[in-house]
Parts: sequence; structure tokens; C-alpha cells
Amino acid sequence: MARYTGPSCRLCRREGCKLFLKGERCVGPKCAIERRPVVPGQHGLLRRKEKEHGIQLREKQKVKRAYGVLEKQFHAMYEEAVRRKGITGENLLSLLELRLDNVVYRMGIASSRAEARQIVAHRHITVNGKPINIASYSVKKGDVVAIKENKRALDMFKSLKGQKPVMPKWLEFSGDKLVGKILDLPKRDDIDLNIQEHLIIELYSK
Ligand code: SF4
Repeated sequence: MARYTGPSCRLCRREGCKLFLKGERCVGPKCAIERRPVVPGQHGLLRRKEKEHGIQLREKQKVKRAYGVLEKQFHAMYEEAVRRKGITGENLLSLLELRLDNVVYRMGIASSRAEARQIVAHRHITVNGKPINIASYSVKKGDVVAIKENKRALDMFKSLKGQKPVMPKWLEFSGDKLVGKILDLPKRDDIDLNIQEHLIIELYSK
């Protein structure tokens, strides 16, 4: 499946909830979900009753779109989640949260995961001192995530100085030093998106 290049807000409207794909706009009055909360398309106003498979499919699409992951990658993550000990759904969410682009977003370095992916791709981020330009790179507990020293003077990072962004308790980030750390692995309660992961597991288990 090719990467979706259409309007981000259309994805939120299709899933019927905010996926926070456009940074600050998502928390303002211009958010399309606030202004036009209907499914896009000619028949968007019709109320269709989804069947079980449809509900499971929508939940999977919602999570994939929120994290910006393609089907092949997402399925590979599901298989990894099955292999790991513990509850598969929670393992899957943990793997998604530990992606480097998500961590950069959660630390407040970027205003959306899409922006975070771009920052990573442009080699502005180091993990344990090494530049990493792979958005899907999986960080581990104890890893130090920082903005590369020779990029810290860029305008996009200057605004982080002195800020104390709100972030999940498994992460820390200093706006003055532009250095953060993975304090712990993410727990289910740390994930604020409204996700019913059991529906995704049921879909893939068929
Ligand atoms: Fe979704 Fe953000 Fe667009 Fe609102 S502004 S519809 S949350 S991408």
C-alpha cells in the first residue's frame, strides 16, 4: 500500500475522532472534526451500521493512521507483539509508542508525528550519541534521545528552550539541554488515544 498523501483531516473525519495529525491546528477551532464531524464523501451523512469485521477494521485503520504506519509495518509489529510475553494488544501499543518518531513527538520536540518523522529523517536526532534517521527505530529503556549538537541552533529548536512540555511519565526531556531519556517502558495507562486494541487483535487472529 502506498503512503497516503491526501488531506490529513479527511482521515480523522473517516475515523470519526481526532488523530492529532496536524499539530497546533488540532487543538484549535479550525479542527475539521470540530467544524464538520461527518464521514467524507457523497454519502457521509448517511448513518451506516458497521458489522463486526467493519468495526475491527476501522479500529486498525485508526491506530495505523494515528501513528503513521503502513499496513506491512503494522502487521510485522503485530507479529512481534504476538511473539513477546504478555498481552498482545498491550505489546502492540508499546511497540508503536517506542518508535523514534513517536518518542520525538511525545517529548514535545515536534508538534505532530508527521513533523517528528521529518525531523528524524533529516538526521537532527541522536540516540545514545549516534545519529538515527529511521523513524521506525525502536528505542529502549535507558536510551538517551537528543537533538544533534550542531542542529541545536536551528530556529525550529530554539523555541524549546525553557519550555516544560507535558509528556507521559515514561519519558523525560529537558528543553534547556535539548536532551531526553526513556525512563521506562510505556504502560497501557500511559497511552492517551482512545484505542480498543482487542479489536485489532481479533481482526488479525481470523
Ligand atoms: Fe484531525 Fe488535527 Fe485535522 Fe482536527 S485538525 S481533523 S485533529 S488532523
